[in-house]
Amino acid sequence: MLNSKPCLKLEITDPVASFRAAINENPKNTSHASNSGLSPRATAILAKCWKPDRHLTISFMDQPPAALKEAIKRHIWEWADYVSLTFSFIDSKDGIIRIKTDTAENASQIGTDALTIDANKPTMFIAARPGDLDFRTVVLHEFGHALGLHHEHLHPDANIPWDKPKVYKEYAEKWGMNKKSVDLNIFTPITEQVAITDYDTTSIMHYPVEKELTDGKFEVAMNTEISSKDKKIVAYYYPIDIPDGGSCETP
Ligand SMILES: [Zn+2]
Repeated sequence: MLNSKPCLKLEITDPVASFRAAINENPKNTSHASNSGLSPRATAILAKCWKPDRHLTISFMDQPPAALKEAIKRHIWEWADYVSLTFSFIDSKDGIIRIKTDTAENASQIGTDALTIDANKPTMFIAARPGDLDFRTVVLHEFGHALGLHHEHLHPDANIPWDKPKVYKEYAEKWGMNKKSVDLNIFTPITEQVAITDYDTTSIMHYPVEKELTDGKFEVAMNTEISSKDKKIVAYYYPIDIPDGGSCETP
């Protein structure tokens, strides 16, 4: 069974700002964009990686209890071993990544899209709590988005044998999601030309998939670890050995 509310894609209100933020941060984000400049078409195929030597400051927008704050920090730090990016948590509320815990959502902006959000608004939402079975999964997953990762179940080669009517019904009843949201978050493969490894059912970026919602055979457990392929992708974006050598090109 699913635990916390599914992480839903956050709407980009200004695609041009998203595009500009990405190319200003890391020109290699355009590697796969068409040469049509700032057209909406180009923005749809843009990677959103940080520059490999970026220092990401991280703030809490509200005042979570110390235990919650420390638990979130601990799991975010788990990513630090695999990337050239550096992180620090700051006491002020003006970090590049701004976390809101007083929320019902688990969600995050993807990579450089965080730069397009008003400075007084959060870029990441964490509703999960340390007592929840999926707390660590949620924190690792949301920070994966902050590093530029997309949902793995939307991998172009995923081909999950969904029982779509059941999925619509289940997600509507359990999470209040309408058809459009289910289509966007569960059925529509990503189109961004980002670094992609083979489809990875062990990715921390994959939703759990119950076999009751598929052909009865396919299922994906709730992943709790950063997978080896997750590590491979972020190491490609943010190589530790050659900090300036990062690229968003397909490996
Ligand atoms: Zn997500």
